[in-house]
Amino acid sequence: MQCYINRAAAGHAKTSVMESTVVSTSTLAPDEFDRNVPRICGVCGDKATGFHFNAMTCEGCKGFFRRSMKRKAAFTCPFNGSCTITKDNRRHCQACRLKRCVDIGMMKEFILTDEEVQRKKDLIQRRKDEEAQREAEKEARRPRLSDEQSQVIATLVEAHHKTYDDSYSDFCRFRPPVREGPVTRSASRAASLHSLSDASSDSFSHSPESVDTKMNFNNLLMMYHEQGNSPDSSEEEGSSFSMLPHLADLVSYSIQKVIGFAKMIPGFRELTAEDQIALLKSSAIEVIMLRSNQSFNLEDMSWSCGGPDFKYQISDVTKAGHTLELLEPLVKFQVGLKKLNLQEEEHVLLMAICLLSPDRPGVQDHARIEALQDSLSETLQAYIQLRHPGGQLLYAKMIQKLADLRSLNEEHSKQYRSLSFQPEHSMQLTPLVLEVFGSEVS
Ligand SMILES: [Zn+2]
Ligand SMILES: [Zn+2]
Repeated sequence: MQCYINRAAAGHAKTSVMESTVVSTSTLAPDEFDRNVPRICGVCGDKATGFHFNAMTCEGCKGFFRRSMKRKAAFTCPFNGSCTITKDNRRHCQACRLKRCVDIGMMKEFILTDEEVQRKKDLIQRRKDEEAQREAEKEARRPRLSDEQSQVIATLVEAHHKTYDDSYSDFCRFRPPVREGPVTRSASRAASLHSLSDASSDSFSHSPESVDTKMNFNNLLMMYHEQGNSPDSSEEEGSSFSMLPHLADLVSYSIQKVIGFAKMIPGFRELTAEDQIALLKSSAIEVIMLRSNQSFNLEDMSWSCGGPDFKYQISDVTKAGHTLELLEPLVKFQVGLKKLNLQEEEHVLLMAICLLSPDRPGVQDHARIEALQDSLSETLQAYIQLRHPGGQLLYAKMIQKLADLRSLNEEHSKQYRSLSFQPEHSMQLTPLVLEVFGSEVS
């Protein structure tokens, strides 16, 4: 028992002075021994193992002293009471051995009672348990990705790679973009935009990048506001929506890709066809806005999808019938999202979370979709905590982006509706676009 206590106490690197004194019965902490001094038992001369009950002794004499004290044994020397105790004869005369023990300073007060031993043992065990508990709690607080979560992320990343071609090689199959029309203003506008962004980055080269970006953005918007850019005014100038066929094909193509991505989100295909369609119809434009961020360029506020033909400026989108009421917040959204510097894993999770929003119109199995979305949100949060240094606020910012998308969606629907009301424009759309965004013309 005593041995156990001594070992346990010595094993505790940070034992208190009280504990090391009482439990190991040493006046010196083990570390304080001079390792060069030979350790000899003060009783019998055998090899000592340390201070026991206040004296340097061997294990044998330690045990002998404790047993003797506990038994309250009274020994009598069979000789003349002055035996010399050695390692070999120490068993021969208990009386003189015990006398020697007391002579070298061993004290029965240093012996723990069974009760004390038990208490000490309990205390040490309790500390061990508490330590283990603290470790377990620390471990539990440490966010981790379950195998299932890692698998979901891997699936989504793969789904995105399969449905987002960053060479944009399919874009040349769309009806071609037409930027040169009766109105040549757009070209000069684009040109002045470039010089403007160059100028501002020169004159503000000492400022942080974000300031430049903001400057460019505000200048850009001001320019469009000044020049008036509503579809009506363009039409008055004789411009039809020259970019509409190309952008309609681009949107139609993107919808197909979003559908492909959605089908690969774990759990999506198990939903009813009605719910799948309801989710896709209401979120498609939001997911398109999200995924387009990959091509969005902060330097010139354009979506760059390969060559110059497929570099889309705000002016290009106005030539497809959209106004600044959509495009201003859309570009702001793209800038904000870009600046979050999302990792691909976060980007794909955000798209999946957006797609699996239970509060979309027409959704039936609300609870099931909510459960799927919750699990994706948890995965995103765990991922950020684990893999995104300094990402404490990132999750909240990402969720805010989903809220921004709702109002962008609303504005898009409004503008789409007024566009699709006009047969000459709706006839430029594709059957898929009409099906997903709605066909207002009967
Ligand atoms: Zn001894
Ligand atoms: Zn004796």
